[in-house]
Amino acid sequence: MNLDLREQRLLPISIFFQIKSDNLINIVEILKKVCYNSLCLTVHTYIEGSRFGTMALRRVVMFGEDTLRKTSRKVEVFDDKLWVLLDDMQQTMDQFGGVGLASPQVGILRRVIVVEDSDTEKRVELVNPVITKEVGQQREVEGCLSSPGEWGYVKRPERISLTASNRYGKEFQLDAKGVFAITICHEIDHLNGKLFTDLADEMVEDEEELEKAKRSRNRKCKRKKKRR
Ligand SMILES: [Zn+2]
Repeated sequence: MNLDLREQRLLPISIFFQIKSDNLINIVEILKKVCYNSLCLTVHTYIEGSRFGTMALRRVVMFGEDTLRKTSRKVEVFDDKLWVLLDDMQQTMDQFGGVGLASPQVGILRRVIVVEDSDTEKRVELVNPVITKEVGQQREVEGCLSSPGEWGYVKRPERISLTASNRYGKEFQLDAKGVFAITICHEIDHLNGKLFTDLADEMVEDEEELEKAKRSRNRKCKRKKKRR
């Protein structure tokens, strides 16, 4: 889900290193600066054949691509592949200023989402999330990292309860309300091939109206970080 987005189309690039060097991190940092703002960069770093560290900004899958219409599979194995996926999703969110990301948006059809709690600004990783309770209704404007520039009003429950696992497979329960609940519902929809535009009862194109809608939605957040 997108609350703060540079509206641009991205050129995906992957760079693979096989370097025996203590300066590897420096090289990655230089690349990060050079490529920032202009490219979607994935850098896999290997030393002597093993994955050493990663600065992995994954390409964000866009509306219109088949992947976003598929149903994601449950995670059964909580291994390093999952941890790398979660780390990469976190970094991709950082790069594009999103408050939520579902793994199909980076091309992986697994039931994995990362969301930011709008009240605490803390990130939560949810593996195999299942909503167990929905209460009330709210209608706010939503956007998506996979569809820059599109915004629409969607009705969502005001409060939800859910169960999920963390990255190590430990199950937990979570209650969410307001914008946090919206973000979780939006991302879980991605796991079922559903997009916010399927649910939107009104798209918002007028710039002034959009700003007003975002201000109204952001008033629900306890922490008033600058959100678009
Ligand atoms: Zn989305």
